[in-house]
This record gives sequence, C-alpha cells and structure tokens, in this order.
Amino acid sequence: MTRPLLSLLGASFLGACTVALPEAPSCPTAVPVVTARIEPGEVLRRDLGMAEMREEAVRLLEPGGLVRPALRRYVGQSLTKTRLDARLTTSESVLPDGSVCAVPQRIDVVLRFVRRELRVASEARGDACLEREVETHEQRHVALDDAMIADFRPVLEQRVGELGRNLAPALALDAEAAKAELSRRLRAEVRQIYDGFEAMRLRRHRAEIDTPAEYARVTTICEGRVNALTARRR
Ligand SMILES: [Zn+2]
Repeated sequence: MTRPLLSLLGASFLGACTVALPEAPSCPTAVPVVTARIEPGEVLRRDLGMAEMREEAVRLLEPGGLVRPALRRYVGQSLTKTRLDARLTTSESVLPDGSVCAVPQRIDVVLRFVRRELRVASEARGDACLEREVETHEQRHVALDDAMIADFRPVLEQRVGELGRNLAPALALDAEAAKAELSRRLRAEVRQIYDGFEAMRLRRHRAEIDTPAEYARVTTICEGRVNALTARRR
C-alpha cells in the first residue's frame, strides 16, 4: 500500500529556529494567491516475485504500524505513493521597532501520486486465470484511487483556499525568523490536509476492497491455486 510522505519545498522553509513575538496589529495583511492541484501520475504494471513484494510491503508498512496477517502472502499488489508539496512565497516588511512581518503572498499546493504500480506476482505468470483474477483485484485499487482523486480535487481547492484566507502574517525579530514561523504554520495546516487524505484512502481501500470476504474469495478462485502458490512460499 502506501507510505505517507510530506515534502514541503521552497526557500522559505529553510529557517529552523524561530523567535516569534506576539502578533502586532501593525502587520499588514494580505490574502495570498493560492493554487491547488492534483497530479495523478501514471500506473505502471510491474511483475515482481512474491518474495520481493512481501519484502517491500514489510519495509513500507511496518514503520507505520500497518502490518496485517495478509502481508505473509502477496500474489498481487498495488503500490501507490503520494506526496503533498507546498510552496510559500512571502513578502517582508520592517516595522518601526525593527521587527519584521512576513506576509503570505502566494501558496501553491500540489498533491502528487508519485509512484503507482499494479503488480501481479511473477509466479502467477502462465496461469491465465490467476493473472486475470489478481490483476482485476489490483485494478480495483487503482480505480478507487482515481475516484478519490476526482472526489478530493474540489475539497483540496477549498481547504487550500481557506488556508490562504486564514494564514495570518508572522511577526518576528528578523526576516528569516518571521518566514520560518509562517512556514511552520503552513506546514502544520498542509500536514493535516495530507494526513486526512491518506487516512481516508487507507480506510476506503480496506472497507471497499480488501475485506475479509474478498480475502476469503481469493482463496477459492482458479480452483484454489492461490493457496497452492502461497503455501509453496510460506
Ligand atoms: Zn487488495
């Protein structure tokens, strides 16, 4: 499945330590220009061996505590990696006391499906029934992601629009600190949007496709040859 990644780019994110002062009414306010888009990416078919798929699943899912018993045997897999990039452009103004306001001018958010693969175990090759069944199952994951992209597009635009209207200017002792503070707030908001999307994706793939009933069904397809295949590899 997936490993959530968050990548926030832009020079404005380079500052680390901030000394933020309380908001002063004298900071100029501006509603930044915002853009939000989704890049769905291409789905590639890749036939890996069952051992390779298992290895990758463990590596990707274990850190997130997403390991399930089904992980023991993979005859198919759909791997999707997503990433949300946010770029912030600010303008700074110096107040009479020397402190600096960072005002958001522009926020560009892109949700990317950076890696999409539909996998059918190389061990199933030559068995037309198994190949077809496994591919059909994995194709449902791909189709669900596509549907979720379509559903999420207006939600993302709305959330990023709200974010732009609500992101108040940051006041600090110098420009770097002010920009860093603004970046920190943006990052927290964007992280929430991303985490919400990924949690929903995981929930829907499990609830709508990878159900106990579906796993039970898979053991009976093609005259039980999935069992034979996984038994060999256990
Ligand atoms: Zn599945």
